[in-house]
Amino acid sequence: MPGTLITVTAPSGAGKTTLVHELLRRDANLRLSVSYTTRAPREGEKDGREYHFIETGRFLEMRDTGGFVEWAEVHGNYYGTSRDWLTEQFGKGLDTLLEIDWQGARQVREAFPESVGVFVLPPSLSELENRLRKRGTDSEETIARRLQAALGEMRHVQEFAYVIINNCLPDAVTELATIVQAARLRYANQHKRHPHYFSFLAQDC
Ligand code: 5GP
Repeated sequence: MPGTLITVTAPSGAGKTTLVHELLRRDANLRLSVSYTTRAPREGEKDGREYHFIETGRFLEMRDTGGFVEWAEVHGNYYGTSRDWLTEQFGKGLDTLLEIDWQGARQVREAFPESVGVFVLPPSLSELENRLRKRGTDSEETIARRLQAALGEMRHVQEFAYVIINNCLPDAVTELATIVQAARLRYANQHKRHPHYFSFLAQDC
């Protein structure tokens, strides 16, 4: 894996998408994967930008022919990360970021043990509830269901190497940028980036 691979996972309402987009704005060397999904586009979403929106049949075909490095069913829809896209970024030595759920993050950790998993938590449970409420005119039952789903995801936090509590967006962006930076500076990555320097150091004088 020539570049650095970062996964970012969060329950809905934790502010993950804003956080990731702020980081991408700051860091020109990071590429965000555009996942494939079978869910319908939401208003304002564009095919190929937020997601590649595809039919279930095509998704299953891609999955069964090894087209995804990871995939998962989330809230009744399929989501997956393209193997070809990731291989292409690796080929160019680029650093990549995947915005995926905990099931996908687990698969990425197994396939790429040197990848770095980050979990983003909302500031508190009451703030999470406020955010889920603000999303529209949903019924109490829908809000309760979303809250339960978010809690279910949050219980996987211990599987991740890093945790960001998203209290304040600028601080959270700095924290995420720091994690990415630290991952880039790991010995194995520096060795790959500067092979001549390290081979010189390995020579006996
Ligand atoms: P949404 O449909 O609201 O954009 O995303 C729902 C959930 O699916 C989020 O937790 C998001 O991180 C996750 N997700 C998006 N793309 C992928 C993917 O490629 N793989 C996996 N495993 N999860 C994804």
